[in-house]
Amino acid sequence: MANCCRFWTASVLGVALLLVASRVFSQELNAPKRYEFSEEKMGVPTRLLFYAFSDEKATVAAQAVWERFDELNSILSDWDPESEIIQACRAIESSGERVAVSDDLRRALLESRKYCELTRGAFDSTVSPIVKLWRRSRYFHERPPAKMLDAAKERVGLNVWNLDDDGLWAEKGVRFDVGGVAKGIVLDEALRILNDHEITSALIDASGDLRIGDPPPDKDGWIVGVSSLGDEPAFYCELSNVGVATSGDANRYVEIDGVRYSHIIDPRTGEPLTSRCVATVLAPTATTADALASALCVLGPREAPEAFDEIRRQGVGNGELSPFDYILIEVADNPSEGEPDVETLASPRFRELFDAARKERTEALCSERRQ
Ligand code: AMP
Ligand code: MG
Repeated sequence: MANCCRFWTASVLGVALLLVASRVFSQELNAPKRYEFSEEKMGVPTRLLFYAFSDEKATVAAQAVWERFDELNSILSDWDPESEIIQACRAIESSGERVAVSDDLRRALLESRKYCELTRGAFDSTVSPIVKLWRRSRYFHERPPAKMLDAAKERVGLNVWNLDDDGLWAEKGVRFDVGGVAKGIVLDEALRILNDHEITSALIDASGDLRIGDPPPDKDGWIVGVSSLGDEPAFYCELSNVGVATSGDANRYVEIDGVRYSHIIDPRTGEPLTSRCVATVLAPTATTADALASALCVLGPREAPEAFDEIRRQGVGNGELSPFDYILIEVADNPSEGEPDVETLASPRFRELFDAARKERTEALCSERRQ
């Protein structure tokens, strides 16, 4: 009897051990693999980084994301004359009536309107007629004629258009440029699609604007460099489940009579920004981050603190804005002698990371010189 018991105990233990071993083995075989896909989308290099359990799952998910990118681009692009957003404005103008819009366009316009209200006009997608005039300046290297600029300014603001259940209405000559928020919208969609394909550890990168999902397996987050005015990141941070967007005049500007005009316009004055700047915003979604990064550049170090405090207090639509971090690095327009010519404005967490990285760089430089 005792032998029999021993036999059964040993057998049960053996089976249990076998089960554990096979489980561990199959988990190892099934450990998610890192995938990377790159394409040029919306005119910028775009990357999908994620962890998936098979090549097939990864390829199918990536393909679904690329298709959605193209679909949204054909709705929101202000470069493509056939895009829905451009066609809608033309249709309103020729019929004089309200036009029905797709759900995607409705969402993009409502998001734009929300951020215009929250930033009191620093972010405004009706800025398009002014953007177009300044784009033309890039070729001719001269300011737009004052009369044309004045006429364009008349077509900007919250009261020149509205959207209700029957569709979109806009005054004559109103055009939308949702370029300041479109990347964010598309990035949020990309993560949603990956999640639908059971891929949650992901980072989607549209030329530096990011939507980040769960961390890579066994990691606390994705390491992200936050831009500075130079080539080196201002600092690094480890992030998960956030959107991060950067705006600035690094590559897109025109110089006329020694003045550097950015592609970002202050819709309230019709003038492009003239001080060199780079702004990064971290928010719960890429849409929020994208709109607020553009707005942060416009508001600048003087107006942004009050506006951003107010936005943080109010939340963004769903009453929440957390996590929320930002940094603006700006070269002062007229640096006075003896004063630093770079101003920074940052949320407490980004300030800490920025100062720590700067201290580390200074120490490294000093020790290099000592050697
Ligand atoms: P971003 O790179 O996200 O800052 O977006 C910049 C693009 O948004 C520009 O190329 C313009 O098409 C558009 N834009 C420029 N100024 C503004 C503004 N103040 N509000 C909204 N969109 C803007
Ligand atoms: Mg933006």
